[in-house]
Amino acid sequence: MSTTCTTCPYCGVGCGLEISVREGRAIEVAGDAAHPANRGRMCSKSAALADTVGLEGRLLAPRIGRRPVPWDEALEAVARGLARTIAEHGPDAVAFYVSGQLLTEDYYVANKLMKGFIGAANIDTNSRLCMASTVAGHKRAFGADIVPGCYEDLEQAELVVLIGANSAWCHPVLYQRIIAARGPDKRLVVIDPRRTATCDEADMHLPLRPGTDVRLMNGLFAHLLETGHADEAFAARATDGLSAMRPILAAQDQSIAAVAADCGLDEGLVAAFFTLFGQTEKVVTLFSQGVNQSACGTDKVNAIINCHLLTGRIGRPGMGPFSLTGQPNAMGGREVGGLANQLAAHMGFEADSLSRVARFWKAPRLAARPGLKAVDMFDAVLDGRIKAIWIMGTNPAVSLPDSGRVRRALDACPLVIVSDCMETTDTTAFAHILLPAAAWGEKSGTVTNSERRISRQRAFLAPPGQARADWRIIADVACRMGFASAFSYRTAADVFREHAALSGFENGGRRAFDISGLAGISDAEYDAFPPVQWPVPPGRREGTPRLPRHRYFHPRGTAAMVGVAPPPLPATAGRYPMLLNTGRIRDQWHSMTRTGLSPRLAAHLAEPFVEVHPDDARTFKLEDTGLARMESARGTALLRVGVTDRQRKGLLFAPIHWSDDNAASALAGRLIGAICDPVSGQPAFKQTPVAIAPYRPAWVGYLFSRERTLGRLLRRNRVDYWVRIPMAGGYAYELADGTARSVRAVFSALAAAAPGAEVIDFHDPARGRHRWAMLHGHALTHCLMTAPPGGLPARETVAGLLDEQYFDVDNRLLLLSGCTNDGQEDKGPLICSCFGVSLGAIVDAIAGSGARSVEDIGAMLKAGTNCGSCRPELKSILEREMEEVAA
Ligand code: SF4
Repeated sequence: MSTTCTTCPYCGVGCGLEISVREGRAIEVAGDAAHPANRGRMCSKSAALADTVGLEGRLLAPRIGRRPVPWDEALEAVARGLARTIAEHGPDAVAFYVSGQLLTEDYYVANKLMKGFIGAANIDTNSRLCMASTVAGHKRAFGADIVPGCYEDLEQAELVVLIGANSAWCHPVLYQRIIAARGPDKRLVVIDPRRTATCDEADMHLPLRPGTDVRLMNGLFAHLLETGHADEAFAARATDGLSAMRPILAAQDQSIAAVAADCGLDEGLVAAFFTLFGQTEKVVTLFSQGVNQSACGTDKVNAIINCHLLTGRIGRPGMGPFSLTGQPNAMGGREVGGLANQLAAHMGFEADSLSRVARFWKAPRLAARPGLKAVDMFDAVLDGRIKAIWIMGTNPAVSLPDSGRVRRALDACPLVIVSDCMETTDTTAFAHILLPAAAWGEKSGTVTNSERRISRQRAFLAPPGQARADWRIIADVACRMGFASAFSYRTAADVFREHAALSGFENGGRRAFDISGLAGISDAEYDAFPPVQWPVPPGRREGTPRLPRHRYFHPRGTAAMVGVAPPPLPATAGRYPMLLNTGRIRDQWHSMTRTGLSPRLAAHLAEPFVEVHPDDARTFKLEDTGLARMESARGTALLRVGVTDRQRKGLLFAPIHWSDDNAASALAGRLIGAICDPVSGQPAFKQTPVAIAPYRPAWVGYLFSRERTLGRLLRRNRVDYWVRIPMAGGYAYELADGTARSVRAVFSALAAAAPGAEVIDFHDPARGRHRWAMLHGHALTHCLMTAPPGGLPARETVAGLLDEQYFDVDNRLLLLSGCTNDGQEDKGPLICSCFGVSLGAIVDAIAGSGARSVEDIGAMLKAGTNCGSCRPELKSILEREMEEVAA
């Protein structure tokens, strides 16, 4: 076995992993104990990476239309298509939409081609959707997009405040680091409308009314001022703007009672939080999508930073505002200029930066002004201003708000080029030219995590078929467009050296982002490159954990407290009485093109769902585990209902992951309007007015199959509800529909697609039950079971049939009866993905075997003893079961 050190492809924590390749594409994944981000820890998603590196669903050859073509023909078609569009309509008619999944080297080459050589700045990244408000807030506060602190600050802090961040699920390893460092004098406060898994370990949870973050943080600011917690010497020496804050604070009643009332919080809770914050010197405030994905996200970021600038709690061990980035290389994109309003290497479109970058790149037609941000970019595609778009490593038909509008735009666009590693995504369906990109494990380059740490991602598998690295695809197109002298890179290391050199070009300490100390590294040094935090200025190789606390990048070298006023509260009324919040779940990633391949990860939360408070469930007649249709002004969705008091009354929560590729109607983006923060251009994903109503099917069912693309058949036959769930040996499609017609149509379509197969057919009309199976040889290939609601056996009971090599008499009986020979019961959802421990087993351990702590459960079942991602859920199951035992 060979072992390679690389980084995880999922969230912005940026954990180091050790990958051992056994044979072929079979790998083993372990945490890299030497990587400073995780020190050997992993989470449930990284622990399941081995399930995602197979070739199922991979795009293996370039295509024009449906036709596979050689690379030369595809690259020529891309180059000619872009050149023709530019010649006929000008450079602004071309756009690139890129991704925080790209490596820095990919990003750099794409940005250079668009801004330096095509001559427009229409390149934007899906990181616009996750942290553009932080970038804008950082620039307003610090004069540059800097993250002042590092992960060790989270362990050294005496108070960690998490705002709008479900870190237990979305940044699990960092959350585990915070929890592991806790002691009697260390507090954790969570500010979030939902009682998420992150709250389970918190000392205090403030379930504030959505949209009141600025009101709360301004109230805190006023309290800190009033109670003498301002660091006046620091504020005078290193900051501006305190005077601008005073009239904003004076415009509202800043008493704790008034702040608490506006935020929908208990007054005593707000008082306790303000006192704790005021009296604790070492405070880190972490924030993420609940802050950023808002129509006033930039103001929220500044309201948080203001409190740290006022108290001087920044740039010292255990202190500071800290943005958690969503994607593995969101930060790398910020560094190279992957956002349309940045030029390159943290430079903007000022005259001196334009001149500097034009000279460095020897760019013939450098873009002179910012380009279109993500939402505006797709609007321009729809109205015909943009006539050619190249989408790289992302799935905007799922992830952007108002996805129906995005799809209409792609449908109308004369030239859509998509580089992706997967063949069938909601976005590749619109591609005129499809380019097979190398996937994680096949690519080599660098990524930057939330604490500015640049790490190597190293290849350990050969790219399959004709897949290639993104930077090479872009450079090959650039060469064919006539820019060979600027794009003749041999390796990713060549690209990195140029990127590092640009960061230091005419810098002289004036720009925060400077890694020119790495500009001269050799290929061998690049291969062995250890994780390092920027800046790495000239003459150095070691990084900088914390940025200096007295030096910022506004013209006077100061930071700024930005006067921000609370926005009007989001309105719900009339037809749409509820507010929909959206976000990630623990075991899935983005649009599930990779995590959706893993049975282990699907076992945690297998279906798309909407969480609703019990009072709202009563009001709208919704049943737990039933189905509900949600409707907004933009579209509809049909989701499984979860009734929980973790949800605030009046609010709903739905995950962002399911797409039209893996579910009938579960796309959160279809409901969300494209309302953006006016400063950052980041869309608001957290407060969409919606209506919700129960959906009562005529029948429910399962379709088990080895085929991944049966969703198309189900969609053609208008099955109202289906969701694809990976299982051992194939997939389970969970079904529900309102008419008997559709189930007969599905039977017929499956039978027509497999002439000659042995068919087992069983109908019980009196009870409305139908069982139908198809065998090839002795193996089951398809099985469809339908019944009235409540009439099906547990999915897990029969799903294992697909994995049987020999479909014998017992299996046939099981198929017909829905019961195993040993009468095994459904054990419920998987809670611990690492060791396959179900809810039922955990309940048994508590109720039957006397487990009384998370550690007891770990000792009995091993649950929670590997990555720790499930520990908050174990704690909450334990508390719930103990209440029942006590009752
Ligand atoms: Fe990957 Fe998990 Fe680390 Fe995020 S926390 S980088 S998903 S291992």
